[in-house]
Amino acid sequence: MPTCQNCQKQWSWKDSQKAMFQFKKGMKCPYCGVTQYQTSDSQKRTSLVGMAPLLALPIVSLFDSWTITIVIILLASLSYLAVIPFFMKLSNKEELMW
Ligand SMILES: [Zn+2]
Repeated sequence: MPTCQNCQKQWSWKDSQKAMFQFKKGMKCPYCGVTQYQTSDSQKRTSLVGMAPLLALPIVSLFDSWTITIVIILLASLSYLAVIPFFMKLSNKEELMW
C-alpha cells in the first residue's frame, strides 16, 4: 500500500482507490492534504500491471460472443483497479516516468 511521504501514514486500499480516480497530476493525501505523486518506478509498475488485461484478449477471442467478451474485459479492468494500490509508491515530488 502507498505511504504518504509527508506524514508517513499508510493509505488504505479505499484511500488509494479514491486518490486514483481523481488522479490528475498528483493525489491528495487524505490525512495531511499534501499532494503526492507516484514515483517513476511505481508508474512503470502500474502501467505494466495495466497491460495485464490485454493478456486476457487471446482468451476472449476464443469466445464468439460479445457478452462474454465484455464481461471478461470488465472483470480484467476491475481486478486491475483492485490490485493497483499494492503497486503504488508515493513521492513528494513529481517524477517523470522515463
Ligand atoms: Zn500525508
